[in-house]
Amino acid sequence: MTPVTCFESKHAAVFGLGGSGFITAQALAAGGARVSVWDDNEHARENARAAGLRIENLAAVDWRNFDSLVLSPGVPLTHPAPHWTVLKAKQAGIEIIGDIELFCRERQKTAPGSPFVAITGTNGKSTTTALVAHLYKSFGFAVEAGGNIGTPILALERPAPERVHVVECSSFQIDLAPSLNPSAGVLLNVTPDHLDRHGTMENYAAIKARLVEKADLAVVGIDDDISRAIANRLIKSGKRVIRVSVNNTPVEDSIVLDGTCLLRYYGGRSAPIADLAGIASLRGKHNGQNAAAAVAALGPLGLDTERVAKCLRSFPGLPHRLEEVAHEGNVLFVNDSKATNADAAEKALLSFDKVFWIIGGRAKEGGIEPLRPLFGKVIKAYLIGESSDVFARTIGEAFPYERCGSLEAAVPAAARDAFASKIAEPVVLLSPACASFDQFPDFEKRGDRFRDLVKALLADKKAS
Ligand code: ADP
Repeated sequence: MTPVTCFESKHAAVFGLGGSGFITAQALAAGGARVSVWDDNEHARENARAAGLRIENLAAVDWRNFDSLVLSPGVPLTHPAPHWTVLKAKQAGIEIIGDIELFCRERQKTAPGSPFVAITGTNGKSTTTALVAHLYKSFGFAVEAGGNIGTPILALERPAPERVHVVECSSFQIDLAPSLNPSAGVLLNVTPDHLDRHGTMENYAAIKARLVEKADLAVVGIDDDISRAIANRLIKSGKRVIRVSVNNTPVEDSIVLDGTCLLRYYGGRSAPIADLAGIASLRGKHNGQNAAAAVAALGPLGLDTERVAKCLRSFPGLPHRLEEVAHEGNVLFVNDSKATNADAAEKALLSFDKVFWIIGGRAKEGGIEPLRPLFGKVIKAYLIGESSDVFARTIGEAFPYERCGSLEAAVPAAARDAFASKIAEPVVLLSPACASFDQFPDFEKRGDRFRDLVKALLADKKAS
């Protein structure tokens, strides 16, 4: 844990006692702060009480006694409407911050300049965070990785010169971290998302930009208009920016993907870094962007290209994101359960050519219509979940489909067809383009079930 000593003898109100809020309250208390905590959920309050935290009904106290409101990122700061604690804090004239801000202040106080890589973007945050952590570990560094990807930032070991913190930041977390100043900031891409919580695209983009504005080294993807504009603005202001592209013509001081090769452009020259061909965990152009950004975030270490190439090859990848579950005969089984919308499923379809596609669940607006240009890659689809009727209508005559209802029925059906096909490299792909909530508690459970079903099916096949 990172005790927040910079809050010693201050009084913090902490609202929201989920994973990160609970740890934040503990880290503040461990650092010597007075902490008053509250959550609308009684069970969460009980847990906090059991851990020795002071529960105080924040709706019924004098807010002028507090120095700060420390808010959980899930609580609305501005949209659709500010939470009541936000209004109270504003009335009392106190700051509203989150756990990343506390970490930044603690780092500034106790280990300024210690290595701290912060990563954001609309898509690819977790993969890039895991990859940066993997690269630093492979280079022999002690790495503390967390933030939005899992372990709350204040649950990590405290910042220190010999330790690299690699932290995934959501837009909500950045919004609560005004002094976010990582040694390397990575902004992968900005496309419309979470507008219910940020109001406008301008506001969302401005929040994302904050992660790189104060970074010592900024790494910015330039394949979408908004990120490119942010990169240009930073360069104009004199900041060192390494630009990352998988689409554009290469620019000075950039890392680009050319085919499957990562190249560095610097001083008017290009030099190869690594070939991503054959690295299963980094399939697809989108992962080229993640890999290029991760290498850029290494700074000068990234110049050791031989070592970088070797470390990229050993990246295990994250579960549920184009995860290779099994390769039996010539059939590849891929779990992409994290693809809860068409955008993410598009990345999966772009990564393969002959797909036996398991899709469905709780459909998002627009369904799979945006994927029509990629329908030629689908040999057959296996429909599951409540979206079956809608998806069947969208598919029409484009390719054959089977209404399976459940994953339990879809996996054997897709495997049967893939094994029977005369195709050279068939892929049984779970990339549902839907939320899982109609049949599973979350996308992880859906992906785990797929993995189990595939393993059981292949074991049976071997036994028979
Ligand atoms: P995040 O943490 O931002 O949600 P993940 O790394 O968990 O991102 O990847 C989630 C999904 O987003 C992947 O399954 C893939 O479909 C898509 N994705 C990953 N990286 C990128 C990228 N750089 N650009 C666009 N889409 C991406």
